[in-house]
Amino acid sequence: MTSVLKVSNITKNFGGLAALNNVNLNIEEGKIHAIIGPNGAGKSTLLNVFVGKLIPDSGTVKFQGNSLLGLKPHSINQLGVVRVFQTPEIYQDLSLIENVIISALARRDGHFKFNPIRYLFDDSALTDKSKHILKDVGLEKAHDFIADSLSRGDKRRLELAMCLVQDPKLLLLDEPTAGMSRTDTNNVIELLKHIKSKGMTKIIIEHDMNVVFSLADKISVMQQGTVIAEGDPETVRNSERVKEAYLGGAY
Ligand code: ADP
Ligand code: MG
Repeated sequence: MTSVLKVSNITKNFGGLAALNNVNLNIEEGKIHAIIGPNGAGKSTLLNVFVGKLIPDSGTVKFQGNSLLGLKPHSINQLGVVRVFQTPEIYQDLSLIENVIISALARRDGHFKFNPIRYLFDDSALTDKSKHILKDVGLEKAHDFIADSLSRGDKRRLELAMCLVQDPKLLLLDEPTAGMSRTDTNNVIELLKHIKSKGMTKIIIEHDMNVVFSLADKISVMQQGTVIAEGDPETVRNSERVKEAYLGGAY
């Protein structure tokens, strides 16, 4: 198994609070790796370390063998580490196709200059690619819609399209179904299954156990800043430690 992300002994304190306490993770290439755990366990903090938004107090993070620590978020993005936020980060006033193109430009140009219209006319390859991706997420009929007019579930699709157009090697999803109805949640699961291909590795933080157990190849369970259990879904489901941590919850 090829390891794509190797996290060793990561610690992060906020004042007196140990948000991350000696976290070790090994993410295998092409897999969907879920990180679960109660609120405040440190899951989002860990993701913020991966994308360069937070610098850990100690430890190392290596992506394809190279350290990510000290790199700016846009440099990490250009290496192919792409994050889907907990709430959709889209340009509400622009059309869907413009949203996707802007995202592609951010990946291509790094600190990009905000001139999407010029690129729209200049770069037909980029436009074609963006249309193709919108089709992939089931929004092909809505290119020219204004993003703000979409339903919550469709905004999530759009945001995924904006991530996918960046050709991620490692896609990070922080609670992609947070606050969604059951129908929208199921749609997102289907979508994630549909894009479960092309050697792309995914790390998904998720509360919804249906999502976790239907998608993940491997699960790490966090509690109070540490990984308390790890393994395939069956192993984790049967772990006494995990059952205890969830005190008769969704398990
Ligand atoms: P999770 O995503 O698992 O719910 P978080 O990583 O968001 O948990 O938070 C872990 C802990 O760190 C929580 O106690 C939270 O309040 C704290 N925390 C997170 N970010 C900050 C911050 N920027 N400043 C201070 N405390 C923080
Ligand atoms: Mg969180």
